Amino acid sequence: MIVKYFDMNSGGFEKTDFKTVFIEADNTVESDRIFTENFNRDPNNISCTCCGHDYAVSEYPSLANATAADRMCQMSEDWQSFEEKPSTDEDAEYYSKCKCYMTLPNYLNWSDDIKVILKS
Ligand SMILES: [Zn+2]
Repeated sequence: MIVKYFDMNSGGFEKTDFKTVFIEADNTVESDRIFTENFNRDPNNISCTCCGHDYAVSEYPSLANATAADRMCQMSEDWQSFEEKPSTDEDAEYYSKCKCYMTLPNYLNWSDDIKVILKS
């Protein structure tokens, strides 16, 4: 699975050079360990108690799924999953975003504030 770490800006600063870190792991214990090895900090840390956790952590079955909302993929009819094609006008309105669908390779090339760490 893929574990997504989204920097919540706790304490008013970003914790690494990346806004979002995606880590492939069997569970969050493993992904937390990989995060700490790569960035020399605990992703479960709370830098500021009023702001809360440094990272919002969520789990996904795949990297394509984990990035689908950011890539503006079309939502399924039940809004529970995504399809690998451009979002509809309704989706774009819901997210207040443009319809800038990106394939996964394009997204990975385009964005310099994400880091993907896959199992080697
Ligand atoms: Zn705070």
